Amino acid sequence: MPASTKVLKVEFRGPADELLADCEAANKPMVAFFTIRHPRRQAELWRQSRSRLEVEQGIAWLRGAGAEWCAGMIERVGPQFGRWATNAAPGNSWHQWALALDSYALVDGRISWDTVPGQVGGPGDAFYRFYAERAEALGLTPMGPAIGDWVHVQGRPESAPSRVMSWPEIDAEMRRRFGS
Ligand SMILES: [Zn+2]
Repeated sequence: MPASTKVLKVEFRGPADELLADCEAANKPMVAFFTIRHPRRQAELWRQSRSRLEVEQGIAWLRGAGAEWCAGMIERVGPQFGRWATNAAPGNSWHQWALALDSYALVDGRISWDTVPGQVGGPGDAFYRFYAERAEALGLTPMGPAIGDWVHVQGRPESAPSRVMSWPEIDAEMRRRFGS
């Protein structure tokens, strides 16, 4: 079941829907599978990507930067184990702001992860490259060409919310949106 783009921020949803329609029309269908990620899930992924020492240092750093709610979220989710998943602390992915979309390529009715990080030049490769090109043409920011995150497209050019907002601002907004 594809993820609905209805939950996305309206200024991002328009071009995001257009992007998916363009891919479909070009016979390179892309299927939305991810939109909003709750800070709790972001915290879990962030923790599993780090050692205990790095987690403790990160929590202390966020607290010092004025992001008490986000720091507390990392503490509350407890230890997590798995392979590396993200650089972004809770609040610091555009997925928490309803301004990011992840889609996979549908090649002959099957999901293809070619280039993501599968085979480069495989059948899905052209789908992901077209998706990134069209995203750029529509004023969105694809993260495939820049960092190899080929599924990801966002509504802001800045790599992370902390590039345009202070941590106290991010923290207040996360608490407002997802609090309690
Ligand atoms: Zn993403």
